[in-house]
Amino acid sequence: MTADIPSPGRIVIVGGGTAGWLSAATFSRTLGMRDVTLVESSEIGIIGVGEGTFPTIRSTLAGLGVGEGEFLRSADATFKQGVLFDGWATGADSYFHPFNMPIGGEDEALLPHWLAMEGQRASWADSVTVQERVIRAGRAPKRVQDPDFSGPMNYAYHFDAARFADYLRTISLAAGVRRIEGMVAHVEQREDGDIAALTLRDGRRVEGDIFIDCSGFRALLIGKTLGSGFVGCGDTLFNDRALAMQVPHDRPDAPIRPYTLATAHEAGWTWDIGLPERRGIGYVYSSRHCSDDEAETVLRRYVRPGGEALTPRQLRFATGYRERQWIGNCIAIGLSAGFFEPLESTGIMLIEAALRMVGDFLLPAGSASDTAARNAAARRFNRLMTARFERIVRFLKLHYCITRRTDTAYWRDNADPASIPADLQDLLAQWRHRPPSRFDFTVDLETFLPPSYHYILYGMGFETRLAGGIGRYPGGQEARAAFARVAGASGAAVSHLPDHRALLDHLRGRQPSARVS
Ligand code: FAD
Repeated sequence: MTADIPSPGRIVIVGGGTAGWLSAATFSRTLGMRDVTLVESSEIGIIGVGEGTFPTIRSTLAGLGVGEGEFLRSADATFKQGVLFDGWATGADSYFHPFNMPIGGEDEALLPHWLAMEGQRASWADSVTVQERVIRAGRAPKRVQDPDFSGPMNYAYHFDAARFADYLRTISLAAGVRRIEGMVAHVEQREDGDIAALTLRDGRRVEGDIFIDCSGFRALLIGKTLGSGFVGCGDTLFNDRALAMQVPHDRPDAPIRPYTLATAHEAGWTWDIGLPERRGIGYVYSSRHCSDDEAETVLRRYVRPGGEALTPRQLRFATGYRERQWIGNCIAIGLSAGFFEPLESTGIMLIEAALRMVGDFLLPAGSASDTAARNAAARRFNRLMTARFERIVRFLKLHYCITRRTDTAYWRDNADPASIPADLQDLLAQWRHRPPSRFDFTVDLETFLPPSYHYILYGMGFETRLAGGIGRYPGGQEARAAFARVAGASGAAVSHLPDHRALLDHLRGRQPSARVS
């Protein structure tokens, strides 16, 4: 935890979901701010989904000064080492997007040689990392003796969203954050447009210097009050609804997958996430391509047996983001700032990214006293967040637009060039003749780095025919040696890592370490 530092003034957060409480915890515990108030309405409640995360969550949690075991227990968390995609390319295929970087981070040098390999070859992911073998063996990413938040494999977590928000609330309150239960009924603005105070339905007034809008899809401050426009991306990313269920394990000691399983269906895909006591399963679909009843049939077919008696919960969402996410003394974080479907778990990761930037920009920007500095920070924040959102649209669309499925209108429409952003079309046109290179990316703005593009492109069976042949690319012998090293290392990697459930039981205080092998 950071010692006392100058504060940008009184921070008021509206909303107590993951965005609100992660903001409160970060401001109070990581950034050491002393005057933080959060207003939430239990009458409205939180969205209560968002169970898959990104590896950045580990440094976020470490920054909050919490222990990994305490977090795993409190949020009912499990380990996630990537996403296994089933049926996305042809309907009968399967590939893994691992969190591990390719061996030595040298995938640009290795890739042409993998592309030029004749005959049978391991998948690209299997050629450059042992992680797929680790997950298929049901192993954890770390061992009992590894320090908190680190291990031989790169990893994130799955957790229960409601329990995670509760946990963040507990640690925020312990760090001095004030919580006000109540419904914001009116937002008071000053002459210059800045927000001055919130009035609650019971008449209480909450004043502040900086207002953080974490009010979810309602976007109470940034949208309703300040009128920031919404940039819709529904013509590119079609999914706009989800049906979610919590399905009990069929037995208490059932194995828990250390990855998210994302299975493609007629008009969308299901997430399947293993938690200690249950699975979180949801069908994300396009209402333009299937009815709610058809979606429920798909979900029930998927969960069978085990979910027959359960009633799914429906969630509707607009895909896109706010034109400006920081206006005057208001910053939108979480669903109020924007949302894309949950493929690749970008929701919570964007909250983390926004908080890192706010941490860097808010203090130098000061409070209302230096408006010019604050507005400069806002412009920079808006440019950077917009660029991130745009690039995430591009990366998510990649999962769909190179499909070879033609079985339903959903998949045909997804491959229709009219739905593919122009910059992605340009890149794909080049990637047919050369693999992606660092010059295709502005790395600071990317959430997904080139290795992730490689995993998706070549996992989906995208064809790159090297223009000019392999002769242009030196290092063939080294590449073959590197692939052989990975293949040779996988057995040891698997045998040195414990069973996923056994490690979780131990870290959650349910099994002595001697039994975790
Ligand atoms: P909410 O949880 O909706 O919180 C809004 C808060 O604002 C609530 O506390 C509410 O009471 C309060 N509020 C609103 N209006 C008022 C008012 N007038 N007065 C007082 N309080 C008010 N993200 C991931 O990273 N991984 C995933 O796997 C993932 N899966 C998802 C699946 C689906 C179907 C959806 C829709 C989203 C998913 N997300 C996922 C996104 C993730 O759920 C959100 O990013 C995250 O939960 C943050 O939500 P939030 O806090 O912004 O909003």
